[in-house]
Amino acid sequence: MEKKVLDKGYIKLLKGEKEDNILKVASICYGRKIETFDEDKKKFLLKKLMFEHAGNPTSSFEFVNFLFEVKCPIFVARQWFRHRIGSYQEISRRYVKDNLEFFIPEDLNEKLKEEYIKLCENCKSFYEKLVKSGVRKEVARGILPVSLYTVFYWQVNLRSLINFLKVRLDKHAQKEIREYAKTILELVEPYCPIVISLLKEKLEIE
Ligand SMILES: Cc1cc2nc3c(=O)[nH]c(=O)nc-3n(C[C@H](O)[C@H](O)[C@H](O)COP(=O)(O)OP(=O)(O)OC[C@H]3O[C@@H](n4cnc5c(N)ncnc54)[C@H](O)[C@@H]3O)c2cc1C
Repeated sequence: MEKKVLDKGYIKLLKGEKEDNILKVASICYGRKIETFDEDKKKFLLKKLMFEHAGNPTSSFEFVNFLFEVKCPIFVARQWFRHRIGSYQEISRRYVKDNLEFFIPEDLNEKLKEEYIKLCENCKSFYEKLVKSGVRKEVARGILPVSLYTVFYWQVNLRSLINFLKVRLDKHAQKEIREYAKTILELVEPYCPIVISLLKEKLEIE
């Protein structure tokens, strides 16, 4: 499942697990291994497990995992990587010199947009010139702006994912990372419909 984000970015959901895992795992606390739950019981228990721990999900949420491939500008990735509870693997500009693409903000007037694009293109040309003349790629990349797109894998459990969504969907978060957070929410929803509806209720989002 792939969704476009910003002008050239995307998020692909490569692997996802269902919220039923939370209840299967949590049932061991009561000396039982329950495999199936009726819908009402499921809602009741998930709500309890999601908010009983000082308003945060309990450890049973760590047993639901997701793997995403993300393409986003470097300035978004820098904010994303501050979320330490998760695993990352990113394209290395020490090895890769191709596919240089830049995020172009849509809310610029025509003249500024033109200048912005020109400046990015000039950085790209100069980077290519440096590499061609033998400068190491990891040094030459210093001339590239943080609007450059990067690609990474993000593996994360649902507990950490909820934390990510809480802070990155908030109106204080930067607009561009909010777009990615909204997309993550949409991709996870089919796997965890009850958890996501509880989260939306809590965050008062539609
Ligand atoms: C709007 C906004 C503005 C921000 N501005 C800045 C800024 O100006 N400068 C800046 O440096 N950062 C800034 N940040 C980043 C922010 O401080 C967090 O680093 C980031 O949101 C990751 O959150 P987290 O630590 O909860 O996530 P994770 O690292 O995924 O951690 C998840 C949870 O695990 C626990 N945890 C993880 N590591 C530790 C630890 N070492 N000790 C104790 N508990 C831990 C905490 O409960 C934490 O909430 C900003 C974030 C937002 C959303």
